[in-house]
Amino acid sequence: MVDIHVARRRLELRRDELARRVSRAEAGLRHEAQPLSADPEEQAVERGNEDVLRNIDIDARESLRRVNHALDRLDSGRYPECERCGRSIEPARHDAIPEADRCAACAASAETGR
Ligand SMILES: [Zn+2]
Repeated sequence: MVDIHVARRRLELRRDELARRVSRAEAGLRHEAQPLSADPEEQAVERGNEDVLRNIDIDARESLRRVNHALDRLDSGRYPECERCGRSIEPARHDAIPEADRCAACAASAETGR
């Protein structure tokens, strides 16, 4: 059985960490928005950084959305349930991915059976 209080605490910590990651990436992107160097090699490096930062930003926002969704589900008492089949998500899976919204079987079939 998943301990709801532990799960909430872990999700809140993760949410804070992700929010920090988003704001760091955005601060970096603002910095990157300055005019590119005249040197083509420098430009390539700067463009690379921008892509990396943008990916971090997108990934962190997506994770943040999942974490907030998991917190909503905690509030409404649906937290340990798989959103697809309604069975309890395996505790080991929740330990690894506190924001998981599907059981291992549903997550695996979503990846393969599209
Ligand atoms: Zn399921």
